[in-house]
Amino acid sequence: MAMKKGLYGDNRNATIAQLCHRVEEENQWNLQIRRTPFDWEVDELNALQACLNGVIFDGDPDRWRWTRTSNGAFSVRSMYQKLEDDGIQVNPGFTFPMKLVWKTQLPTNIQLFFWSLLLGRTLTKDILNRKGQTVDPLCTMCGLINEGSTHLFLHCPVALKAWNITTQARSNGYIVILRSMSIAEALEDWPKGTNQALGGMVWSLIPYALMWTLWCTRNDRIFGNKAFTIEGICTRMKMVIWYWLGIRSERRNYQFRELLVHWDDILS
Ligand SMILES: [Zn+2]
Repeated sequence: MAMKKGLYGDNRNATIAQLCHRVEEENQWNLQIRRTPFDWEVDELNALQACLNGVIFDGDPDRWRWTRTSNGAFSVRSMYQKLEDDGIQVNPGFTFPMKLVWKTQLPTNIQLFFWSLLLGRTLTKDILNRKGQTVDPLCTMCGLINEGSTHLFLHCPVALKAWNITTQARSNGYIVILRSMSIAEALEDWPKGTNQALGGMVWSLIPYALMWTLWCTRNDRIFGNKAFTIEGICTRMKMVIWYWLGIRSERRNYQFRELLVHWDDILS
């Protein structure tokens, strides 16, 4: 109930049941309003009373209940649905590329990372400076150009070298990275791999695994002052893919060293 501060008198802490008396099967209200309500308050009050008309109160304490879910608890999903039902566009002109994140079989923390990345909220140095923090804007990996997500993950010389080495078996992957103007575009346009089960699966994971590895390597450098090599990044990316494939039956007949030694053969 809209217990407006200042509108109600001494009984403003009363429960709704205490303000209502049942007289000849109708609810009579004793609100003890201490000033003349504004027009909008009268409307609100009338709407509430109409809503409660016929309700018999049992004396239990009042509590909030969200009517959009069966258990009365608020959920963002139900709120989103309500906004859509009301014809309100939550993000006009923007459709989040669901299939690039939530419909993948990546671990949840990786999905969350890419969700944030595709929304432009991953805390690269350009975003940090935009938020008011003063940090050296140059890329953590190459130190040549300002650090933004498209640079860090796609076109940084360090990233490009790693993309080049790990995609040699299928050059069309490297071409996609070179021409993409955004992370979403690179993921969207990433070409299909071989029909061979393991090879196809590994290939489809490369863009996610390499971007995730670049992010981890970048953070290790900033927060742990750790050095890196391109070869180290490539090996770490292969370990990431091996780990992600742990739940898949296609990995069962292979060992990690085969992935390392026969990388190009598996992908081609
Ligand atoms: Zn760079």
